[in-house]
Amino acid sequence: MVIDRYIADEMLIRLARWLRMAGQDVSNPPEGSSDSGLIEVALKEGRVLLTRDRLLARRCEKAGAGFILLRSSQLDEQLLQLKEAGLSLELSPARCTLCNGILEVVEGSDLCGSTRPVETTAWRCESCGKIYWRGSHWPRIRERLDDKEF
Ligand SMILES: [Zn+2]
Repeated sequence: MVIDRYIADEMLIRLARWLRMAGQDVSNPPEGSSDSGLIEVALKEGRVLLTRDRLLARRCEKAGAGFILLRSSQLDEQLLQLKEAGLSLELSPARCTLCNGILEVVEGSDLCGSTRPVETTAWRCESCGKIYWRGSHWPRIRERLDDKEF
């Protein structure tokens, strides 16, 4: 299993969200960042750059930054390619899908104004405070990650 950190370019924000649902550490590109800005972050933080841009991939290669060049614009095929590259894609609530913050488990009873049963497990993003429930969307996500004959 590959344990790596990643940064997605602007074309792969959606893929980045899916990877975070699988517990992968995937940064969003810094706002308004240029290609060189992305490469700089990748090098500084030791992240593998995920991109569909051949030119950008070539620049990574020259700069000595890790990268994965995604072949497809289809999310399913992108996930499949990364699975083949050795990424673990099992559903795992470890990262905020929006901001890549670390999720901490909170008990249902700790959540103010919650109408959920107290035994429900939830996760809270340490960075942006977003709450994740093991809610109705959860099985659908699992299906998508599992269903691929990976
Ligand atoms: Zn967050």
